[in-house]
Amino acid sequence: EKETPWTESEKIRVCVRKRPLGLREERRGEVNIITVKDKETLLLHEKKEAVDLTQYILQHVFYFDEVFGESCTNQDVYMKTAHPLIQHIFNGGNATCFAYGQTGAGKTYTMIGTQRNPGLYALAAKDIFRQLEASQSKKDLLVLISFYEIYCGQLYDLLNGRKRLFAREDSKHVVQIVGLREVQVDSVDLLLEVILKGGKERSTGATGVNSDSSRSHAIIQIQIKDTANRTFGRISFIDLAGSERAADARDSDRQTKMEGAEINQSLLALKECIRALDQEHAHTPFRQSKLTQVLKDSFIGNSKTCMIANVSPSHIATEHTLNTLRYADRVKEL
Ligand code: ADP
Ligand code: MG
Repeated sequence: EKETPWTESEKIRVCVRKRPLGLREERRGEVNIITVKDKETLLLHEKKEAVDLTQYILQHVFYFDEVFGESCTNQDVYMKTAHPLIQHIFNGGNATCFAYGQTGAGKTYTMIGTQRNPGLYALAAKDIFRQLEASQSKKDLLVLISFYEIYCGQLYDLLNGRKRLFAREDSKHVVQIVGLREVQVDSVDLLLEVILKGGKERSTGATGVNSDSSRSHAIIQIQIKDTANRTFGRISFIDLAGSERAADARDSDRQTKMEGAEINQSLLALKECIRALDQEHAHTPFRQSKLTQVLKDSFIGNSKTCMIANVSPSHIATEHTLNTLRYADRVKEL
């Protein structure tokens, strides 16, 4: 099937990916409540109880740029999401892909994946190297990667032993992450190796900071630079913190509450910043969270953004799934 190229003025695409029901979930009696009606339409069948205690099904309908069912592979998702953006970065643009959703909905599977089943960043890297090798004019371009995490509003370099990093806005209002390690890679294999190693730094830090991956945003950046070390184009892949964690802002435990408040704030700011992409002269609230501050470049100028909302099919997740779909709906709605 043919992909739809992005037009010059198109800035945002919002997609949904439904993962399959796991074997263990099935054994526990969990049932599928999500139907992918067609490639742009998703139905959620919510079981409700009337006042007289009879049960009925409330059907919710959602429309997105693309809806991926449980039989779609990472490659299928890639072709409709990040792939059309590769041309954009070779034209000197900036592209960003977000995975949003509840913990367990498939964000990491989609964005990062594994060695055997690579995620979107890896499929993009393959394409980038293929293009560099195929074109004489691109032969001198360099590929650099960085990989860091935002946990509780603080930055940690996953390619440098979780070194604490600081963001600074320079006199030209460009946000720099001071000291962020950028590793130059000359092959896909090396790139994957570096990222998979960095991913292992995510859940348990040498510093002893407990940043379980559901509470942190992970950011992989692939930059193309020319020989004068000028950034030519850039694509970022962001595995966001579990959206259900935003509700922890009401938790009684102090630490949990603080982490939840941070996540809540960053996901709200993200929505506003993405929405502002399509609105000229809109005020973009970059500074409202560390996430949107460090991604400032992704919301201005020649930037295109693709959001993938990941959802679980299980009836147990109904509430969180509806929240995810509503969030995604708001992102694309103008
Ligand atoms: P998240 O990062 O959102 O918390 P994960 O990516 O870790 O979720 O996915 C949770 C579980 O579901 C993992 O065991 C993962 O392998 C599995 N999974 C997620 N998406 C898919 C999919 N599309 N197909 C098959 N298994 C999936
Ligand atoms: Mg994850």
